[in-house]
Amino acid sequence: MEILILAVVIALVAVGAISGLVVSSRKKKQLPPTAPPSTPTITAPPAEPQVGEDAAPTAQEPRRTIEEVVLPDAETALESPVAVEDPVVGAPPAPEIEVPEPTAGRLVRLRARLARSQNTLGKGLLTLLSREHLDEDTWEEIEETLLIADVGVAPTQELVDRLRERVKVLGTRTPADLRALLKEELVALLGTDFDRAVKTESGVDTPAVIMVVGVNGTGKTTTTGKLARVLVADGRSVVLGAADTFRAAAADQLQTWGDRVGARTVRGPEGGDPASIAYDAVKEGIAEGADVVLIDTAGRLHTKTGLMDELGKVKRVVEKHGPLDEILLVLDATTGQNGLTQARVFAEVVDITGIVLTKLDGTAKGGIVIAVQRALGVPVKLIGLGEGADDLAPFEPEAFVDALIGD
Ligand code: GDP
Repeated sequence: MEILILAVVIALVAVGAISGLVVSSRKKKQLPPTAPPSTPTITAPPAEPQVGEDAAPTAQEPRRTIEEVVLPDAETALESPVAVEDPVVGAPPAPEIEVPEPTAGRLVRLRARLARSQNTLGKGLLTLLSREHLDEDTWEEIEETLLIADVGVAPTQELVDRLRERVKVLGTRTPADLRALLKEELVALLGTDFDRAVKTESGVDTPAVIMVVGVNGTGKTTTTGKLARVLVADGRSVVLGAADTFRAAAADQLQTWGDRVGARTVRGPEGGDPASIAYDAVKEGIAEGADVVLIDTAGRLHTKTGLMDELGKVKRVVEKHGPLDEILLVLDATTGQNGLTQARVFAEVVDITGIVLTKLDGTAKGGIVIAVQRALGVPVKLIGLGEGADDLAPFEPEAFVDALIGD
């Protein structure tokens, strides 16, 4: 009997051991493959359970701890190739970052865009000066040509006086002599001692801050975007502030420019407070350690006081972070005298440090460069020569005059 009981006990123990082995081996099989965390941790949202599917894990599936999910067994992780999870379905593809073309020599590349000014101003003057007899009528025609090209009354008078004097001294006039003379005088009129570089260094440990002002429609937002590209092309990092909250599409437009070159755009609600957006943009620029913060503003010329209140506030609020490094005024070259009137109003409201003349590709009135500099005593720093992304060029008097009168 004792032997029988012992045999039964041994048999039970043996069965228990075998079933234990089976269970433990099943458990091992049930262990889910460990997946390493996919970085960045963009994960698809959990799929909604379908009708008829069990939403809760089944009783057989062991629950994994956070450590098991996030910190997998290093060996398994190395051995098993794991499919990287797809990013969120429907998320827009990351914008492709463009590499803007370098700024050096842009004006030379774009010189053909000045064709209209070239024909009216440059070639017109050379033809007149080449006449055999430079009588009073011819000098009057020269004067007219300059005025039509928007050079302005005082600079025109100065130029004509200088040309008359020098032509008299010159004696015989070969086309090459005339060209050289005209080039010298036009370059002198444009001024060679202005500092035309856009200030992109603040001199302290914070970003340079550039505010872009001008009447809406002049190409202000486009210029701000193009300028971001110019700066990126020159190796600077940029943050954009979309403080033109008046024009509905301005912030989207600016952000598109920024996205193309990988520059962050700080924006607020439509109709929001431009000053607080500008302030936040500079704050973001400081936090990011950016080189330059570019602030696009609204240019509503309703009344001078209104403009002064708006721009003055943006300026004051931004300057809580430190002084502004540049205030660029954007002017549409095709608007002629009207542009000059705008320029004067803005100059009374803020201290303009540089002028950007846009749409010089669409006008025969390239002389506006001379007139506007005279009117404000501030240099033209950049010129817009088309709607293309890289059609903004640093202004160089010599290259500009070469383009006008031909090499
Ligand atoms: P904003 O209201 O002053 O911000 O004006 P936008 O930046 O929206 O520009 C108004 C229009 O002028 C747009 O169609 C631009 O493409 C165009 N524009 C801007 N700069 C130039 C330029 O240099 N040449 C030409 N042809 N068009 C330009």
